[in-house]
Amino acid sequence: MGESKLIVVSVRLPVRLERTGEAWQASPSPGGLATALRSVARKRPFTWVGWPGVSVPVHLQDSAAAALTDFGRPVFLVQKEFQGFYEQFSNRLIWPLFHNISGRLKFDRSAWYRYRVVNERFADAVLEVAEPGDTVWVHDYQLALVPRLLRKSGLECAIGFFLHIPFPSHEIYRTLPAREEFLLGMLGADLIGFHTYEFAQHFRNACLRVLGIESEREVIALPDHLAHLGVHPIGVDPQEIHAFAQLPEVKDEFESLRARFRTKKVILGVDRLDYTKGIPEKLLAFEEFLRRNPHWQTKVVLIQIAAPSRTGVQEYRDLKREVDELVGRINGRYGTFNHTPIVYINQTIPRTRLSALYRLADVAFLTPLRDGMNLVAMEYVAARTDNPGTLILSEFAGAASCLAGARLVNPHNIGLMADVLADALHNSSAVESEFQGMRDFVHANTSEAWAQRFLKRLDEFHDNRRAGAKRLDAVCINVVEPQRRLFILDYGGTLQPHVPQVSEAVPDRRVRSVLHELASLASVYVISRRSAAVLDRWLGDLPIGLVCEDGVAIKHAGGDWPAMPEIDPTVLDTMVKPVLEDFAEHTPGSKLVRGRVALGWHYRTVDPKLGALRAKGLYAQLEDTLKGLPYAVLRSNRAIEVRPARLTKHSVAERLLESHADAELVFCAGNDRVDEGMFEVALRSERDNVITCFVGDKDTIGQYFVESPAELVDQLETMVSLWLEPPVIGSELRGSGAAPAAK
Ligand code: UDP
Repeated sequence: MGESKLIVVSVRLPVRLERTGEAWQASPSPGGLATALRSVARKRPFTWVGWPGVSVPVHLQDSAAAALTDFGRPVFLVQKEFQGFYEQFSNRLIWPLFHNISGRLKFDRSAWYRYRVVNERFADAVLEVAEPGDTVWVHDYQLALVPRLLRKSGLECAIGFFLHIPFPSHEIYRTLPAREEFLLGMLGADLIGFHTYEFAQHFRNACLRVLGIESEREVIALPDHLAHLGVHPIGVDPQEIHAFAQLPEVKDEFESLRARFRTKKVILGVDRLDYTKGIPEKLLAFEEFLRRNPHWQTKVVLIQIAAPSRTGVQEYRDLKREVDELVGRINGRYGTFNHTPIVYINQTIPRTRLSALYRLADVAFLTPLRDGMNLVAMEYVAARTDNPGTLILSEFAGAASCLAGARLVNPHNIGLMADVLADALHNSSAVESEFQGMRDFVHANTSEAWAQRFLKRLDEFHDNRRAGAKRLDAVCINVVEPQRRLFILDYGGTLQPHVPQVSEAVPDRRVRSVLHELASLASVYVISRRSAAVLDRWLGDLPIGLVCEDGVAIKHAGGDWPAMPEIDPTVLDTMVKPVLEDFAEHTPGSKLVRGRVALGWHYRTVDPKLGALRAKGLYAQLEDTLKGLPYAVLRSNRAIEVRPARLTKHSVAERLLESHADAELVFCAGNDRVDEGMFEVALRSERDNVITCFVGDKDTIGQYFVESPAELVDQLETMVSLWLEPPVIGSELRGSGAAPAAK
C-alpha cells in the first residue's frame, strides 16, 4: 500500500508517562497489540492515537504531548471522563454484558454520555492526523462509536475495527439500553474483526434483531458502504516466548522451581483476577479433585497466578475476597506441614518469568466463563517446545475454537472438571501429535500474522469505500438544464412513510403540494400498491399520472384508467399457491396475500431470522418452478410475490420511458428491491441525465440515497425551487451533473 499511513486507535497508548515536577518522561510500555504491530510499524508510516494512561492537568498538556511525540497522538482525559467512559460504561457495563454476565449490569445515563463524548474526542484526534488514503484501525469495545463518527465526517480512509472481547448472543445484547447506537458505531467500519466465527454470527444476528438489517455471511450492506465481517483470531509471539526462556535468570528460576516441585505434578493457572476468568470455579474443581482422589493430595500442586485488575471496582474487590477465602479453605483442609496444595500469587508476574512456569507445568488449567481469546493458553502451547503438556481449557474461551488438542471443559460443571483433571494427571504426557497440531497453529497464527492479515484485507477497501450511493443533494446535481423531465416515484415508503393502516397512508399536505408543483415542470407518475379507486381518492385531482397495484395499470395525467387486465389464474393457483401454502404452514406468522393479479407470501410478523432464511429458500424454489414462464418473482421488504412479468413496476418503467422518449432528465425513486428493478431500466435507458434515488437504510444499485420519505420530499422541493428560480449560468450551483445513464 504505497506510503499511506496506518493510524492505530486504542484506549491506551503503549507508553508509560511519568511526571517529575512540570516535566514529563515517556517510556515504552508495549502490550500485546504493540507487539503485534511491531513489524507493520517498521514497514509503513505509523501513528498511534490513545490515552497516555495518566491524568494530565490542562496547563501541562502541551509539554506532555511533546514528550509523547515519538509514541503517538495523545487523547487527554480528565478524571470524570475517565470514570464515566472507562470505568463505568466500558468496564462495568459492556465488559460484563459482552461476557454473558448480565447480572452485573449497571446502565448509567451520565456514563453513556461520557462514553459518547470521549469517543468523539478520539475521532477528532484521528481527524487531526489522518489524510486521504490512510488506513485507520480502531480497537475494542471502549471505542465502538469511533468508526461511525469517522465515516460521518467524510474521512477518505479505510476504517477497520477489531473487537477483542466476545460479542454476546442477541438475547443478551439487546438488553443494552444504547444497543442501536453501539451497533451503528461499529458498523461505520469497512472491516469489523472478531476472534471467532461465533462472535461474528452473534453480531450479524444483533444487526438483524436490533436494527432490522439483513446480511450476508461476511458482509452487511449499509446505505453508504459495505461493512465486511472478518474472523481473525489473534495470536502470540512464540519467538519472544522462546527468547524469554533462554534468559539466564529465567533458566535459574525454572531450575529452582523444578527442584522444589520435583516429586509433584504441577497444575498452573495464570489469569487476571477478573470475574470472567472462572477462578472460583477452578478452585472448587481442584478441591473436588483432591476430595475424590486422596492419593493425589500431597503429590500435586496448583500454582495460581491471579494478577490484580481493576482494583477500584467493587465487583473485583468482592472477587478477591472470595478467591482468598477459597484458597484459605482448601489449603487449610488439604495442606500438611510439608505441603501446600495451592500456591496462590496475587501479583502481576513479568511475562519473562511466566515462561519458566509454562515450562514447569504438567497441566495448564484455564477455565474462563467467557473469554475473547485467552492468550495464556497460546503462550503455554508456544512455551512447551521440548515436551508437550496438557492444556485444560474452557470451551467458552475463543482459543477453544483454535486449539484442537486442548481438553475442553465446561467451567460451570465442577464435578466434570475434577474428573478431567484426574484423567489429565493419570495420563500426564499428552499425545505429542495432538500437541504438535496446537504448536503448528500457534506458530502459523502469530500476533504479527494476525495484524498483517487484518490490515491486508482492510487495505483492499480503499477503493471500495468510494463505491455505493451518495446522499442526494439536489443543489449539487444538474437538474436545472434538462428541460423535459420524467419523474417516476414509488409511493408507500418512498413519498410517504409505511403505515399499517390504509387509512393512515393518505398523502399529507406537503406531499400533495410538491407533486402539484412538480407536475407543472415535469411529467410525474406515482406508483402505488393501492387500487385505482384509492389512488383516485388520494391523488386523482392532481395533474399527475398514476399506476395502481404496483404495475397493473397506468392512468396518464388528465386521462382515464384503462380496462383492468384480467389474468388466467392457472399458474398462480396450480404452481405458485401450493408452494406458498407450504411455506406459510411451516413459518409461523407468515401468510398468503392474494391481489387481482399477484399472489404473495408476507413475512412481516415472522421472527426476522427465520423469515429471511425462508424467504431465500422460497425465492430460489419459485424461480426454479417458473423458469421459462412469463411470470416475475419479486422480493420486496418482507414479502415475496409472483405476478405476470408485464404487470410489474419494471415493465411500467419500460413503458413510461418509451412513451417519454424525449425526456432529458429521468428521476426515479423507490424504497425496496422491486423498485431497484425500475432503477435498472432507467439506468440502462441511455438518457443523458438519470437520477435514481433509494429511500431507506439499505445498500442500493441507485446512485443516490436519502434516509427517509421526508428527506426525499425536501429534495423534491429544492428541485422545484431551482427550476422556478434558476441560478445564474456558470454559478457553482450547476455542480457536476447527474450521472450518465449508460453503465
Ligand atoms: N500476564 C502477565 N502477567 C501476569 C498475568 C498475565 O504478563 O501475572 C499476561 C499473559 O502472559 C497474557 C496476558 O497477560 O499475555 C493475558 O491475556 P489473556 O488473553 O489470557 O487475558 P486478558 O487478561 O487479556 O483477559
